[in-house]
Amino acid sequence: MKVGIVGAGYVGLTTAICLASLGHKIIVYDKDREKIAKIKNKKMPFYEQSLQNLLEETISNGSLSTTKYINELIKNTDGCLICVGTPTKNNSIDLTQVIEATADIAQSIESNKKSNYIIILRSTVIPTTTRQKILPYLKEKLSQPFGLCVVPEFLREGQALEDFMNPDKIVIGSIDEKSKTFVEKIFEHFKNTMLISTNLETAELIKYTNNSFFSMLISFSNEIANIAEIIPGVDTFNVLKALISDKRITTNFNGTKIVPALETYLMPGCGFGGSCFPKDVQAILNYASSKKIKTPLLNAIIEINDERPRKIVSLAESILGSLQNKHISILGLTFKPNTDDMRSSPALEAIKLFQEKNAIVFAYDPMIRNEYVNDNKSLNFHLCNSIEECLTNSELAILFTNWSEFKSIDSKLLKMYMKNPVLIDGRGFLNENKFEKNCYFKIGYVE
Ligand code: NAD
Repeated sequence: MKVGIVGAGYVGLTTAICLASLGHKIIVYDKDREKIAKIKNKKMPFYEQSLQNLLEETISNGSLSTTKYINELIKNTDGCLICVGTPTKNNSIDLTQVIEATADIAQSIESNKKSNYIIILRSTVIPTTTRQKILPYLKEKLSQPFGLCVVPEFLREGQALEDFMNPDKIVIGSIDEKSKTFVEKIFEHFKNTMLISTNLETAELIKYTNNSFFSMLISFSNEIANIAEIIPGVDTFNVLKALISDKRITTNFNGTKIVPALETYLMPGCGFGGSCFPKDVQAILNYASSKKIKTPLLNAIIEINDERPRKIVSLAESILGSLQNKHISILGLTFKPNTDDMRSSPALEAIKLFQEKNAIVFAYDPMIRNEYVNDNKSLNFHLCNSIEECLTNSELAILFTNWSEFKSIDSKLLKMYMKNPVLIDGRGFLNENKFEKNCYFKIGYVE
């Protein structure tokens, strides 16, 4: 099928590469021309380990092509997926990119006199957006019949290819049968996957429910950690491990225990970040509140999460006293490993707080180089090129991201480089047996 992808970010480019590899003819457009030039030259514009080879392959065999012009994309395709960003502005969803993309698409459909063109919203949008904002706009602008769907994306950064190629469900919210059939054909390869065929609003709410649920597990774990930390000797990780073993969570199949992937969300830490959980929980609770619906649970998810970086800074103060002019080492800047995404990263939130306390911050992340921090000019920290450089002369190290490279850290390394060899493990990621007493503090546990 000939399909266009509008917006070549984490979701758009992953979708483009994967659909092209499944045999579709895909054209990708982004208003960021530098991004398009990179893709055309077979270079990933962001880090997603498993996609580079497939990008090279699909561009080389012609199944994936790029364009700098939306008109060219519309002219040569029968439908397109809108994959632009939907950030938050004043705690509500900011639809600027979606509205702009829709306007450009509509104009091109009209100028190309395309009949029955199918527009598919892949971006995460608040329930009723598509029916109340996008549909009336398209009806007003288009003289030709068209189709409209909401098909949310559920991939996780860091394992985008794996998630896209092994979906647990495909949700299709559509206005009519022909729009639905078009999407079914795009995803024909996944015919054994559960298909949830529904209306636009249900599809929109499914995505928010997914993200709210997993955020809730993280905040729940952090609330348990807050309690465990006032009881010396109680390790939150053990408490939650016991919970996960419950047969209503871990099932037993022919004597083999099947531990669900949600165990990675039932862990205390420095809180969730990234481009989805924080903004999506905030946007849906704000939508509910605009309709006079109370959301105490969703409010608590955010409240507990916002507290996590502050908690780390308080722990630092309890170890070092005043943080004025103290040299702090931040290990990990991305919101999770295997991505270069720093959006709403807890590490950046903590750096802001350390700055307010006049600490001197050094940071190292295996994926982050100077060009990435340009967007964060308000943050004043020294970006290092190695763990060792980051630890040199430091008075406290804090692990924010569980990059596998950090597994090698132990007391010996801390002592070799740091002025005061102490580390806070914000993810409970390191082997505590490799640390001397009073060198290692773990979130969710007080000796
Ligand atoms: P992103 O910021 O990485 O990418 C968005 C892209 O859209 C950018 O390259 C931008 O230049 C481009 N763009 C903006 N306006 C445009 C326009 N008018 N025309 C063409 N291109 C335009 O965003 P993302 O992380 O890929 O997320 C996209 C959507 O998918 C969001 O709604 C997000 O909530 C949702 N989502 C994201 C993830 C994730 O893990 N990142 C997972 C599931 C769903």
